[in-house]
Parts: sequence; C-alpha cells; structure tokens
Amino acid sequence: MGKKGFTLWLTGLSGAGKTTLAVLLATELGTRGVNVEVLDGDEVRTNLSKGLGFSKEDRDTNIRRIGYVCRLLCRNGVSAISAAISPYRDVRDEVRRAIERDGAEFIEVFVKCPVAVLAERDVKGLYKKALAGEIVRFTGVSDPYEEPLSPGIVVQTDQETVDTSVRIIIQELERRRLIPEVDTNRLRTEALSLCAAMEG
Ligand code: ADP
Repeated sequence: MGKKGFTLWLTGLSGAGKTTLAVLLATELGTRGVNVEVLDGDEVRTNLSKGLGFSKEDRDTNIRRIGYVCRLLCRNGVSAISAAISPYRDVRDEVRRAIERDGAEFIEVFVKCPVAVLAERDVKGLYKKALAGEIVRFTGVSDPYEEPLSPGIVVQTDQETVDTSVRIIIQELERRRLIPEVDTNRLRTEALSLCAAMEG
C-alpha cells in the first residue's frame, strides 16, 4: 500500500445516490484507518464554486476545481471521494489523467439509475420542476449526461440496496489493495477483549 491517497469518482444523474454512497463509504473507510475527504458537488457549489452556473464551461470549471482538490489530497496521502454529477466525459478523463500523473489511483464509479426511476423517486423535487421546464439545463432531462465508457465500478441503484452498492465498491477497493481488508476498529476491540481475558 503506497503513501498516496486514491480518488473515488462517483458520477451519475441527480438523485442517483452519489451523496448517500459517498457518506457511507467515507465512514466505512474511516473505520479501516483510511484518511478520507468527501467533495460533494452540491456543497462545493455553495463555496469553492459559488457563482458558477450550469453551462458546459461552468460545469467543467466546477469539475476541474473538485479534481484539483482531489489531486492535492491524494498527493498528501488523503483519499478523496467526489460526489458530483460530472456529466462530461472529457473533463472526467482530464481529472483522471492529472491524478494518475501523480502516481495516484483514480477509480470512476458509475452510479447508474434510469431517468424514469429518478423522476419517480424525485428525492429533491427537482425532476418535477425540470420536466415542467421550470429548471433549465437539468442533466438527463434538458442537458446532456455522457455515461462512462469503461468505469472501474458500476452500481445500479434502481436494482440494489444502499448496502449492496456500498459493498460492491468496498470489495473493489479491497481487490485493488487500496484499503485493508480488515476493519481496524474490530481488530482493536478484539485485541482489547483478548487482553482483558488474559488479565482475568
Ligand atoms: P445524488 O447525490 O446522486 O444526487 P442522493 O444520494 O442525494 O443522490 O439521493 C439518492 C436517493 O436514492 C436516496 O434517497 C437513497 O436512499 C436512494 N437509494 C436507493 N437505493 C440506493 C442505492 N443502491 N445507492 C444509493 N442510493 C440509493
């Protein structure tokens, strides 16, 4: 296991499950002793990318900024989880190249869910507005989404439970030897109870 962090890049339509998965993954990685930071698209747009809109140019700028932060984190041994729609393939690939150039791993995760299911789920009430034309340039409805051509991981959130999607991603990170297979918290608890048993 190298000293560099890795970037887990979650891409997919609004409501597909990126934020949900990012938060749960960060917690799971934390219990395994992995230093990790989450960059959530919605949140970044309220600070680092405040004022940016949804033209291709602005979306690209937003993604480049997120990618840059991921890159700095990885360089310094902190892993990054990006949870942003990131609709354009060329910029995702640009971020990938920059991170890989530093010798860190970039894993693209396609958080996949059909628009019809998302419009039905409509967790943030945005699809209703987008379909009514009240929101312009809404990804998947009135703005493009370019699916990853060869994502490292695909989770299908219309078919899997949240736990299953998390497990699929964690297992791939284990397979790539980016994270330890054992939960360090569990090990610590086991060690403590062993000590207690020996003392007693
Ligand atoms: P996004 O960040 O992509 O906009 P959110 O994480 O905010 O999406 O919302 C996703 C919604 O879908 C949540 O209500 C979540 O509980 C639900 N969901 C159902 N199945 C899954 C799954 N397998 N993975 C992630 N989210 C799921």
